[in-house]
Amino acid sequence: MSKQRDFVLRTIEERGVRFVRLWFTDVAGTLKSVALAPAEVEGAFSEGLGFDGSAIEGLTRAYESDLLALPDPSTFQLLPWRSSTEPTARMFCDLTTPNGEPAAADPRNVLKRTLARAADRGFSFYIHPEIEFYLLKSGEFGPEGPVPVDRAGYFDNVPGGTAHDFRRESVNMLEELGISVEFSHHEAGPGQNEIDLRYADALTMADNIMTFRTVVKEVAIGQGVYATFMPKPLAGQPGSGMHAHMSLFEGDTNAFYDAGAKHQLSQTGRRFVAGLLRHAPEFTAVTNQYVNSYKRLWGGDEAPSYVSWGHLNRSALVRVPIYKPGKGSSARVEYRAMDSAANPYLAFSVLLAAGLKGIDEEYELPPEAEHSMGALSDGERRAMGFDPLPSSLDHALAVMERSELVAETLGEQVFSYLIREKRQEVAAYRQQVTPFELSSMLGTV
Ligand code: GLN
Ligand code: MG
Ligand code: MG
Ligand code: MG
Repeated sequence: MSKQRDFVLRTIEERGVRFVRLWFTDVAGTLKSVALAPAEVEGAFSEGLGFDGSAIEGLTRAYESDLLALPDPSTFQLLPWRSSTEPTARMFCDLTTPNGEPAAADPRNVLKRTLARAADRGFSFYIHPEIEFYLLKSGEFGPEGPVPVDRAGYFDNVPGGTAHDFRRESVNMLEELGISVEFSHHEAGPGQNEIDLRYADALTMADNIMTFRTVVKEVAIGQGVYATFMPKPLAGQPGSGMHAHMSLFEGDTNAFYDAGAKHQLSQTGRRFVAGLLRHAPEFTAVTNQYVNSYKRLWGGDEAPSYVSWGHLNRSALVRVPIYKPGKGSSARVEYRAMDSAANPYLAFSVLLAAGLKGIDEEYELPPEAEHSMGALSDGERRAMGFDPLPSSLDHALAVMERSELVAETLGEQVFSYLIREKRQEVAAYRQQVTPFELSSMLGTV
């Protein structure tokens, strides 16, 4: 630990770093930042940086508002989009109370707590996300709605288009920040892109996703366009998902791999998937936290609407991909409902907790879905046990409110804050009279 601190202090000195930004994430999933003068960093390591937590969404109750931000030296990186004449670095922070207790409402702490439960069982948890987002001409829009930067589609190569340059610059910047990228391509929607990060342990990955969003937004600003992780920005076009490929390791061994098993999915893997399926409706308000999220989940275009798992089936909620022969270490399961606007710390926590519950309680994996969900009738889906995911945020909150698993995993403070905040979003949405209602009713009703 102190070695890492020394390295940070030395680098600040050697590189002439002018500002060190301390980053943390609030319950809503928004990145917060406070800039420190280099001379203050040593003190922040030993005593933390005090701030008024009540000013930040969901962090404290007003009567216990003092919090400390303790920078994690292992996350120190220079920010490539700041000029080299004024080098700026960042570190992610853990939040504590003034007497050093982890802050109950710090999402990073919620994930650390859940990872510790996995570690008690001998598991470490890895994630490889596929992150989709849209590039729009602007964040502002007229009566025609947001305008995407191009009209291209899946894997299209757009000569001279914005997206190509955009991905190259973003990928270079991510690599400079120590975040490895596996793939990037144009997605199916106009202006829609996808960048897939190389797997990492879930805590590193949650930090990486927060960094990723910042990088993508910064590159967009630099190129005069606007990037959005909104789950469904364009009606009638695909939404932006954040598929999560997950694996558990026991030491160097992938606990989901069994060469002799069906789909090479081990018993541990089957139980983990069974846990995801059984609890998915309860935690959907976490993985899909906006009113808008449900427009994606129920809007087709390969977003899952029903609880099922499959092998090649892209309408399934959980997919068990095929591994290359001899690549047992890459055994993983893909959760396809989460969207690109989720708080990654909280979302990874509930996914892991559901999987662990399946393992602890030896859940039985239901039969594989062989059909596309859309090709079945409601009655057929019901008979086969493919329950719907919640169809709205309102519905998802009602299911989550009764979930012991989610309450335990998030902790009382985050759990009740989310329910309260998200209920307000539902209520504000209910106040709207939409163009759909007006155009379908005026003149007929
Ligand atoms: N955009 C789709 C979704 O919302 C995913 C498309 C894909 O990558 N297959 O989940
Ligand atoms: Mg993909
Ligand atoms: Mg995709
Ligand atoms: Mg995928």
